[in-house]
Amino acid sequence: MSELDELYQSLILDHNRAPRNYHALDDATAHAEGRNPLCGDSYEIWLRLDGNTVADAAFLGQGCAISKASASMMTQAIKGRTVAEARALFDAFHQLVAGSGRAEALPAKLRVFQGVRAFPIRVKCATLSWHAMKEALDRSGSPA
Ligand code: ZN
Repeated sequence: MSELDELYQSLILDHNRAPRNYHALDDATAHAEGRNPLCGDSYEIWLRLDGNTVADAAFLGQGCAISKASASMMTQAIKGRTVAEARALFDAFHQLVAGSGRAEALPAKLRVFQGVRAFPIRVKCATLSWHAMKEALDRSGSPA
């Protein structure tokens, strides 16, 4: 295992052990749930949209280390971004783990999930919270 792989592994383990933004949002304006029955992952995502900005993002739930770390890093990545930027991150992340995207399009930390490509069954674990985030945005009626 390369040094980079070890760094990435430790990042996933760290976010799994101590997930960031791991709470409900009382003043959320958008909400969605994501489930992955294949793995048993189940999460709720809350967003607080302020105009075109994702002012706050949080999540709660249970699942494997990849799914929890992905949700944790996603909330960090989209906080303070515009809705359009959050949607662009979703697209880039999905392309990254599904195998066709370039990692350079994403913040460095999120490139950790590129390794998921080699394990198709894990792609759903990594993208679950992202799909829920996109669904929450779609439901909120925010512009595409
Ligand atoms: Zn999983």
